[in-house]
Amino acid sequence: MADGTTVTVDDLVAWVHRFSEVIGEHADELTQLDSAIGDADHGTNMRRGCRAAVDALAAAEPVDVTGFGRAIAMKVISTVGGASGPLYGSFFLALGTTGGSAPSMDAAETIAALKAGVEAIRSRGKAEPGDKTMLDALLPAIAAMEGSLEDGGSLADVLQAGTDAAEEGMRATIPMLARKGRASYLGERSIGHQDPGATSSWLLLRSAAETLAP
Ligand code: ADP
Ligand code: MG
Repeated sequence: MADGTTVTVDDLVAWVHRFSEVIGEHADELTQLDSAIGDADHGTNMRRGCRAAVDALAAAEPVDVTGFGRAIAMKVISTVGGASGPLYGSFFLALGTTGGSAPSMDAAETIAALKAGVEAIRSRGKAEPGDKTMLDALLPAIAAMEGSLEDGGSLADVLQAGTDAAEEGMRATIPMLARKGRASYLGERSIGHQDPGATSSWLLLRSAAETLAP
């Protein structure tokens, strides 16, 4: 059980389990969002990816943060077709690498690891803020978490600030014109729809807040 100040490998595994559960609950909604501006598979992709991640963790039994990230990434990148699989895969790989061989992380180390994950999505997908992608939820979340930590926030405060900023960022994708991924093929017609990837990224942060510092 998370102790509210440090994040252990067991807490990270619980995060992925919770995320998988939440994705199961929201899969239809994610697919619906993707049917408006994509190819209606984001819910399916995410569900498949989360199940693969849960299975990979059970098989690998990681003992440090690097092992956690690596186990997920290898499986998710190879299991999920679509843009989101490799992007979330690189998120977990970089998170793990930055978390290192320690069995746990404090709040500052946790944010640094999450930030490295988000930067990996950015360098792999080459999207920028405002392109109407998952980064429009994730980048504001990182900024909010860094701000909260600077203000002396607890791990729970930090993760809640990240979740709130991700939700706001997700809603802010509605008026955006898509410049990356399938939605960009629609040009102006992508305007007025919430980005599916930004929505799953908000759920990722929300699941982190629920499990890493409940
Ligand atoms: P696909 O677009 O291949 O069908 P998904 O439907 O699973 O894959 O995922 C779509 C989501 O992926 C989009 O809503 C967007 O948030 C995200 N995405 C697509 N391309 C990029 C990119 N280059 N950088 C960051 N995120 C991206
Ligand atoms: Mg899709």
